[in-house]
Formats: sequence, structure tokens, C-alpha cells
Amino acid sequence: MTNQLFGQMMDSPLLISNILDSASRHHAKMEIVSKRVEGDIHRYTISELHIRSKKLAQALEYLGLKMGSRIGTLAWNGYRHLEIYYGVSGSGLVCHTINPRLFPEQIAYIIQHAEDEIIFFDLSFRTLVEHLKPLCPLVKKWICLIDENLQATSVENIENYETFIANSSGVYEWPSFDERCASSLCYTSGTTGNPKGALYSHRSTILHSYASALPDSLCLSAMDVILPIVPMFHVNAWGIPYSSLLVGANLVLPGEKLDGKSIYDLLESEKVTFSAGVPTVWAGVIQYIKNNHLKFNHFKRVVIGGSACPPAMMKTFQDLGVEVIHAWGMTELSPLGTVAKPKSSDNCKTKEALELIHQKQGRVIFGVDMKIVDGDLNKLPHDGKAFGDLNVKGPWVINQYFKVNESALKDGWFPTGDVANIDSDGHMQITDRSKDVIKSGGEWISSIDLENIAAGHPLVTMAACIAVAHSKWGERPLLIVEKKSELTISEEELKNDILKFFEGKIAQWWIPDDIVFVDKIPLTATGKMQKMKLREQFKDYLLPTL
Ligand code: ADP
Repeated sequence: MTNQLFGQMMDSPLLISNILDSASRHHAKMEIVSKRVEGDIHRYTISELHIRSKKLAQALEYLGLKMGSRIGTLAWNGYRHLEIYYGVSGSGLVCHTINPRLFPEQIAYIIQHAEDEIIFFDLSFRTLVEHLKPLCPLVKKWICLIDENLQATSVENIENYETFIANSSGVYEWPSFDERCASSLCYTSGTTGNPKGALYSHRSTILHSYASALPDSLCLSAMDVILPIVPMFHVNAWGIPYSSLLVGANLVLPGEKLDGKSIYDLLESEKVTFSAGVPTVWAGVIQYIKNNHLKFNHFKRVVIGGSACPPAMMKTFQDLGVEVIHAWGMTELSPLGTVAKPKSSDNCKTKEALELIHQKQGRVIFGVDMKIVDGDLNKLPHDGKAFGDLNVKGPWVINQYFKVNESALKDGWFPTGDVANIDSDGHMQITDRSKDVIKSGGEWISSIDLENIAAGHPLVTMAACIAVAHSKWGERPLLIVEKKSELTISEEELKNDILKFFEGKIAQWWIPDDIVFVDKIPLTATGKMQKMKLREQFKDYLLPTL
């Protein structure tokens, strides 16, 4: 369009350093509490975070790194990791968070692919680092996040973080640059093929932070004490290290120990009001609370995502006085896409109708657009019944993977790999990841629905449903169950009881053909059930003939 009339407003770039500057100016008493790898609790205010992030930026500047250089982290949620988030991105470098739960060979691939020049790591990963060092010749410095007087590791050429920043004054002006510059990098878990990098920008990060704080999103405020259980090494802990500072909330960083007791103790001792995590972590917390007849005294809201939150878990939280915010997203979406919140025009007069809205994956937050399409990319109706491939677009959705010279989009939209329906009010429901769908006699069975029902059985800890080959129907569902340890009935009795439990809740032909019990359902590096591994393990499983 020619002759455009531009608005006459200040044109300052949206930069991550703005968040830290603003928080330290307007929320100077904001506290950051960290459970350290060393075992103790560390506390400081945002002002100290500000100065130390600047000291780090200065120390990095002395190294003469080029703008956009990648700086890797192998670290838990803690204050030094937060300083790296701000110090690295704020100075125009790219904070590359690496998932330490991946296989060492995958980690080495990621570090080499990203061309990381420095790696900051927590003491708990010293053995991993010893293994990685010879595999990653491009890395110039390995810096351990420990106190100055501690010895990091016996391996040569390991520096100490505190020594690294000690000689910087902290008197430092953040540089200003184009808001579209890269700020951070996160690789997908690479369930198929090699991991791929999502390169976030300052602009996408700030917009995502604004949007995720909205009342119908995560509803974050300066009155909150926020504990992100979701790790800072995966999708920027769902943006919480940014959004919590943006609103001026206190932040509690849990470190390495994410078992039920450790999380419960922190929630209580730090008077946490808001937390976020995947269902498997919360299952541990709930188990601990139930076994010890405890309750929450401060905890008010929890965002659960990463995989479907079983309705039984929602109900337990509700009974404990905690509101569950069910959300959907992915690495390629920074990650937030939808949040399950009702709206006034919804037809939810009954408790059941309202529950159904909460159980879906939710409505888009402004900025994200979504649609479902068939195999030929034709748009499908939003009637709550038709289901197809979920496609999304928006300013914090990936356009292209890092160092991949082709667009990640189809027809201008990002194909998420999820199968979903969307109702006429815009509530989206994921029925499956496309590779997890069970195709029985030409019809699709939702593995998520079956898992959700099974998880509601009182003797089931976790349940995964996979497709197994069937001579007549092509595929049929097999349910794999991790049962509660305090079992008093036989496995055969439990199996029959779980199969009965499905009756009346779904169509008869959806009920799994068989159930097998395992000691532990394997989890992925991001705490999700590792269905690929289960499919491999049970690929020759012979279903009973009916
Ligand atoms: P990975 O776990 O492989 O690293 P992501 O963290 O990006 O990848 O996971 C994104 C995927 O997780 C989504 O595409 C979707 O399949 C699943 N997911 C995320 N949130 C939910 C949810 N609330 N319900 C169901 N599935 C979800």
C-alpha cells in the first residue's frame, strides 16, 4: 500500500532487557528464591539479578563475541540460569537452553549444530560435561555454575561462574537493536529424526509474555508468587522467567529436586500461589499429599500442559482448592497457544458443561490463530465434531527451523502434528498427536480419551494407550498401565475392573482389547509418556482373539 500514514508514537524496540530494567525499577523488592543444587535456599531481590546479569553481559563482552553468537546452558531452574537468560539475550547474544535429559549424543549434536561458543552448566551435569567435551570442539569455554570457592570438576579447562563475572563492575548499558533479532534457542526433543531448533526473537518473546499474562491466559499478577516446575531448559519454562518479571511477581526456582515432597515443601514454605508443570510431575505431588494427608495453604492456581491433563487430576486439585488452568502449546509456539477458560457466551449452565470446557485444550489467546484441515489442507468446520490436523499462525509461532533452508509452513500455517476438533465457540480439543492416533477399521480412536478415563481409575497411577496391529481392524488399542503400589487384588482382577470402568464412558468399540501392566511407564526428556518406546516394545504383541 502506498501513502501509508504512520502513527506518531515512540518506536522503541521490544527487547528482553526492557523487562529486567522495568522490573528492577518498579518492583525493586521482588524476590527470587532458588533451591540450589548445593542443597540450600538462596534469596535475592530483582536489583541483584539486574546487577549480576549486567556483570555477566560485561564479562561476555570482554570475550569479543559477535552479536547472535549462541551461548548454551545445561542447568536447572535457578538464579544463575535466570542471570544467563537476561545477561545473554540482553547483550544481543542467543541463550541456547539445552535439555540435559536427552541422550549425550543428541546433546552433542545440538551443541555442534547450534555452534555454541560457551556452555554454562550446573554442577549436577559435570559427568555429562566430561563426556561432552571431546565431542564438542567448537565450544571455547565450559563454565560451571557454582560458588567461587568450590572446585567444579577434575576435567581441565572448566571455569567458575562467580570468578567469570567477578571482575565486571555491573555498570553497563544494554545495547539497543532490532526487536526481530534472535534472543533464545530451544531444540525440539527429536522424537523423529534429529532435534530441530526453534529460534525465538526478542519481539516474539515479549509479545508471548504479554499474552500469557492476560486474565484469560495464565492470569499472572504482582500479587503472585510463581514457581515454574516446567524447566528453564525446555521452551523457556513456558515463558515464566519473562512473564513473572513483566508483571512483578515473586519467583521461586525449584532446582534439581522435582519429587512430590520437595515441590510440596517449597509450595508451602514460600507461600506459592501459582505454578506450572506437566501432568507426570503433578501426579507425584498429589500422591505425596494423599499419602501424608496434607493440604495446600497458599497454592491457588496451576497451569497444566505439555500433555493432556486427566480429568481425575483436575478434580483432585479442585478438591484441594486449586484451580487448574489447562493449556496447550509446543516448542514451536514459544510455547503457549490455547488456554481452557470459559467465556460468558458459552453454554455452560451445568457443572458438567463447565467441566467439559476446562478439560478441553482451550481457546486461542490473542496473537495466535488456528484452524483444522484435512490431508489436502482443506479447512474443516468448527463444529466440535470434525477433526483434522491442527494448524496455527501468529507472531510467536515458528516460521523456519534454525539452519534449515526451507519454510516450516504449509500454505502460510504451521502444521502442529496434533489432531484436534474446534467447537463453534472456539474451544479446541486435542484428540491425539497424529502419530499416536489408533486407526481401527477406518475409524479413529483417541488414545488421549482412553488414557484420561484409565487415569481416573483409583488403582491406576498412569496409563498409556497405543495402537497394536490387528488382522481384521488394522489397529486396535492396547492399554499399558502403571498401577498403584498398594494393590490388594490380582492383576487379572484389576484388568477386568479397568475394562469395566470404560463401559458407558465411551463407545463400546473404543474399549481397549487388552491391558498389560508395567513397573514404570517410560517418560521422555520432557516428562511425557514415551509412547514411541512402548510401541517398539509391544510391536509384536498378540491381542486376545475375541
Ligand atoms: P516435546 O515434548 O516433543 O519436546 P513439545 O514440548 O513442543 O515437544 O510438545 C508439544 C506437544 O505436546 C504438542 O504438539 C501436543 O501434542 C502435546 N501437548 C501439549 N500440551 C498439551 C495438552 N494440554 N493436551 C494434549 N497434548 C498436549
